[in-house]
Amino acid sequence: MARVAIAGAGLAGISAAAALAQAGHEAALLEARPAPGGRASSIALPGSGEIIDNCQHILLKCCVNLLDLYRRLGVEGLIEFHRKFFYVEPGGRTSVFGAGLLPAPLHFAGSFARLRFLTPAEKLEAARGLAALLGEAGRRKDLDSLPMQAWLEEKRQSRRVVERFWAPVLVSAINEELDRMAASHGFQVFRVAFFGAKDAYQMGVPRVPLGELCSAERLARIPGLEIRLRTRVTGIAFDEGGGVRAFLTESGPVEADAFICALPFPALRALLPEAVPDWDAFRHSPIAGIHLWFDRPITELPHAVLLDSPYQWLFNKREGRQVQLVVSAARFLLEWPRERILREAVEDLKRYFPAAARAELERAHVVREVRATFSAAPGLEAKRPRAETRWPNLFLAGEWTQTGWPSTMEGAVRSGYRAAEAVCRLLGESRRFVLPDIA
Ligand SMILES: Cc1cc2nc3c(=O)[nH]c(=O)nc-3n(C[C@H](O)[C@H](O)[C@H](O)COP(=O)(O)OP(=O)(O)OC[C@H]3O[C@@H](n4cnc5c(N)ncnc54)[C@H](O)[C@@H]3O)c2cc1C
Repeated sequence: MARVAIAGAGLAGISAAAALAQAGHEAALLEARPAPGGRASSIALPGSGEIIDNCQHILLKCCVNLLDLYRRLGVEGLIEFHRKFFYVEPGGRTSVFGAGLLPAPLHFAGSFARLRFLTPAEKLEAARGLAALLGEAGRRKDLDSLPMQAWLEEKRQSRRVVERFWAPVLVSAINEELDRMAASHGFQVFRVAFFGAKDAYQMGVPRVPLGELCSAERLARIPGLEIRLRTRVTGIAFDEGGGVRAFLTESGPVEADAFICALPFPALRALLPEAVPDWDAFRHSPIAGIHLWFDRPITELPHAVLLDSPYQWLFNKREGRQVQLVVSAARFLLEWPRERILREAVEDLKRYFPAAARAELERAHVVREVRATFSAAPGLEAKRPRAETRWPNLFLAGEWTQTGWPSTMEGAVRSGYRAAEAVCRLLGESRRFVLPDIA
């Protein structure tokens, strides 16, 4: 049995710790904040103390490693899966997208044909684009360096088809604008979620606040896993042989046989600048969550894509009276004062849901996460570091490391499992924690 110290109790650190502890090792998880979960966590509202998520986090059934982590934590039953996506146009016309009776990859053919927000000619155009994507996936070599927008232009996808069909899926899945995202990520979303298994696209929404899924109490129940909160790693002590001896914290050094840094890239850069050669390649992309409480229901839909709106997605949090708008790649909202965001959000909702015109906004909370995700820019893939480092017993995890996935909870868990596998290799054990993609 070895002792492994892990810095950072986001999903990457949690998954590394859970995998190693359940494989019989001792895992010490050191977290700077008072609670685990990192970016996928909940907050208490000032005043009322009401618990809300910092922003709606969703997963898809193709997130097999995240679901595996939830099984390890005993919380997989707390995720509710939705089989239908609702696209709402200004005026309220709604289209429903979901799998029909045909087997994959034809399972969406029926609902795609019935979409009301694209004309028959636009559907043919989008279908041509999808066929090209499937034909080039796995064959074309420049997808990591090509912007998705350039690929769509190459395939002669019109502006309306891009804005109504491609962008709503990709901008929210990858949290980046089409001209700033590598086409490889766009390809992966459609290949895995749309053309993988028949249920791969189903959207999972937690039934409880995110903070409950990975609470410190739940983690501490895993034998071999110890979590230390409010414990910031402030330095790394190396031994004479070139390996790591301890993580340094304000309450003293934490010694171990192996170490994992599961930190966001700015935190690792501050701690160990020589870990990555090209830090400047890593940039952030923001997300905004706009929580609105109305005096009456404004919609019965559980969630909706708002077509032609800057506010992108709506999630119904409580009987249509409490809703959350999620804006991905939300750079424009960083400039706006809170009052303008709220005023324009409420005005926009009236375009989609007539009931919103009669509703009074009782209260609101705006979350702007400037450092929400890394920007999955063309050219970045080659620069994302592997779990192994030049120090033999020090490993990296974090959703920004080399996982092949964009900045998601699934990517974070994959990185944690990869780092745990690398620790096991160092210890002479051959173990597999990462589950392969379903397509
Ligand atoms: C607003 C928002 C919405 C999102 N929506 C989605 C979504 O719908 N679906 C999805 O899949 N993904 C979503 N994401 C992305 C997802 O949350 C992240 O990709 C994922 O949680 C990152 O996990 P991580 O463990 O790699 O990093 P983090 O969650 O950042 O964890 C790193 C941890 O390290 C700790 N730490 C930092 N420095 C130190 C130190 N020196 N010592 C000790 N601890 C330290 C931090 O406190 C943190 O807990 C969203 C992110 C945000 C912000």
